[in-house]
Amino acid sequence: MLRLKAEKNAVILAHNYQLPEVQDVADFLGDSLNLSLEAAKTKAQMIVFAGVYFMAETAAILNPDKKVLIPDPNAGCSLVDSVDNAYVQKWRERHPDGVVVAYINTSAATKALSDYVCTSANCLKVVEAIPRDKPVLFLPDKYLGLYIKYKTGRENMEIWNGECYVHAELSADKILEVAKRYPDAELLIHPECGCGTACLLELPKLGVEPKFLSTEGMVKYVKVSLKRRFIIATETGIIYRMQKEAPGKELIPASEGAICKYMKLITLEKVYRSLRDGVYHVVVEPEIAKRAKAAIERMFQFQ
Ligand code: SF4
Repeated sequence: MLRLKAEKNAVILAHNYQLPEVQDVADFLGDSLNLSLEAAKTKAQMIVFAGVYFMAETAAILNPDKKVLIPDPNAGCSLVDSVDNAYVQKWRERHPDGVVVAYINTSAATKALSDYVCTSANCLKVVEAIPRDKPVLFLPDKYLGLYIKYKTGRENMEIWNGECYVHAELSADKILEVAKRYPDAELLIHPECGCGTACLLELPKLGVEPKFLSTEGMVKYVKVSLKRRFIIATETGIIYRMQKEAPGKELIPASEGAICKYMKLITLEKVYRSLRDGVYHVVVEPEIAKRAKAAIERMFQFQ
């Protein structure tokens, strides 16, 4: 693998939810946005993106001069698939002063129809910066949208009814049960989780103050926190990276079953084949890429 990477002048970027053996061969690990930014910094000409398709698309949009490959083009995402772009287009026509905010888990075509792209780390800042009299369409994650609506108290915010099928399973009841079992543990929740505002409202009553963090935020937090034990409410793949970077900490998954079948389509064999054969090239149509890039770049002012 190492020889092939050098021969091809390639880097391997892997998402935090990837299989351990794929994480082990990666040059960089991170969430989708951090990986796209790493892609922009690298001098390598070829990028093998071990993640799901929209992430590789985002990397391709931000790096038009580099060849971005995905080891399996079937690695999709239930959030991305939930969006009906024709509806978004109609919403724009019905609300000429409206603002469309798209979570980064969207296709290039959806991003191209949006004013802002956001991540779970900055979506609150993005929505807060939109004048309160302007209607907002937030898509596609309903749990993240409800969390933002609750935090901003904004009434004129339409929330798309999409969900990540993995995080949807992480309900308030499930998380509550684990939190009761480990009362000394700190609870870290990804805002895509189905417990959403219920956790925000109910857990403090039990003396549990959850922290809502992006996956990258979770990794950083576990490393610097003085606590020893953590409950991790997101896809379990991240625990492998956390354990390596914070070896003294005890990490308890909120659900052992929180495993993304799309992420796990990327195997070590497919990464190798991708590197060897230059497959599968991720190409975004130039006009879509131009508009999607503008929405992504508007987000960077909120980093
Ligand atoms: S974990 Fe959820 S949001 Fe992430 S790729 Fe899988 S389905 Fe999409």
